[in-house]
Amino acid sequence: MTTTEAHTESFDAVVVGARVAGATLGIRLARAGWRVAVVDKATFPSDTLSTHILHPPGVAAMQRWGVLDGLAATNCPPIHTYAFDFGPIAISGTPGTTATPVAYCPRRTILDKILVDAAAEAGAEIREGFAVDEIVIEDGRVVGIKGHSKGGTAVTERAKVVIGADGRHSLVAEAVRPEQYNEKPPILAPYYTYWSGLPIDGTFDTYIRPMRGFAIAPTHDGLTLTVGGWPYAEFEANKKDVEVHFLKLFDAVPAIADRIRGAKRVAPIAGAPVSNFFRKPYGPGWALVGDAGYNKDPITAQGINDAFRDAEQVANALDQSFSGARSFDAAMGDYQRVRDEHSMAMYEFTCQLATLEPPPPEMQQMLGGILGNQKAMDGFAQMNAGTISPMEFGAVVGGAHD
Ligand SMILES: Cc1cc2nc3c(=O)[nH]c(=O)nc-3n(C[C@H](O)[C@H](O)[C@H](O)COP(=O)(O)OP(=O)(O)OC[C@H]3O[C@@H](n4cnc5c(N)ncnc54)[C@H](O)[C@@H]3O)c2cc1C
Repeated sequence: MTTTEAHTESFDAVVVGARVAGATLGIRLARAGWRVAVVDKATFPSDTLSTHILHPPGVAAMQRWGVLDGLAATNCPPIHTYAFDFGPIAISGTPGTTATPVAYCPRRTILDKILVDAAAEAGAEIREGFAVDEIVIEDGRVVGIKGHSKGGTAVTERAKVVIGADGRHSLVAEAVRPEQYNEKPPILAPYYTYWSGLPIDGTFDTYIRPMRGFAIAPTHDGLTLTVGGWPYAEFEANKKDVEVHFLKLFDAVPAIADRIRGAKRVAPIAGAPVSNFFRKPYGPGWALVGDAGYNKDPITAQGINDAFRDAEQVANALDQSFSGARSFDAAMGDYQRVRDEHSMAMYEFTCQLATLEPPPPEMQQMLGGILGNQKAMDGFAQMNAGTISPMEFGAVVGGAHD
């Protein structure tokens, strides 16, 4: 091989990870006409350790990209109402907008496969069952990946940019060691499972009790997802008997405990605490998207929304950079700024909620104040869904009192 041949880039972008962040980036870059490979050690369809509330902004994104019909075709039940039961106060509202009124709770086996297929259809090269073992760095710049298919020999692929969409334990991040900021250790120990015979019609119900919380939502195949947890301080003590502690969660709400006793559990209990951080999402020849760049406790279920939004932003930034319209640093710097500005208030709200401590006095006062005011309760549901920001919700509450 001559030196020139050895350094030929096969791709404009190689994306490591093909789930909600990586497949979406594959769709967007391939549709823009760029040569993109999306690789994942998993094969699809397959599950991942995650529940799967897809708030209305995520639904709107899928609609924008023309992949929502694929989800509708799977008979995933729509969710039109979010209900929050804090014990003394219970409120409910609509999480979406007139254009996108509903949320869904699609199994990741189904959602991720829809996205991977759409990326392939758009022209991205998808390599399933391909593990990336090493990020290739030359003269301080990421220039490619080295990996292998199951049982195969090592392959190197070179690209203008390697994007880590490889989740919170990102190999790409490990290789490039980005600045990490606003870090918080794990706050909550979350677990989940599925039930038959626990029907729930069109609502996503959340119950918050002192140091305990759980939620219930309808998913595919007539099954119901339950997800709940306890403070991370109890993680070690409870981890030997997760099942007992998980089932005890429901005793805090006797009507639900009764219904659980009449239902059949159809899956093991899964879950894991996660740490909270932002990472600088770009540098010479590399970028991070989804959990690889910004991770937070799942209590507000923002991960898929955020992965979609960030993948769209990164695709736009790379399009500008590849086409020469803007420098890589300028375009990606904007991505980081927009991501952080958009996420910070929700990040703080999420980390506060994940403590499972009684709502602070000002929140209790706010909840009491909006009780019975449908517009403000819709605002609370929309804020939890990421449809409006905490600041916009503040304006809704202010307006409701005018
Ligand atoms: C318990 C729990 C519950 C959650 N519930 C929700 C919820 O209800 N709603 C919500 O929106 N979010 C939820 N989240 C968050 C959500 O799971 C994530 O935000 C989301 O999956 C991030 O997507 P991603 O594409 O960035 O990464 P991931 O979904 O983690 O995908 C990363 C992919 O990269 C691949 N990969 C990693 N390393 C390599 C390698 N070296 N070579 C090849 N492939 C590799 C992996 O195989 C994987 O497929 C939850 C998280 C947890 C832990």
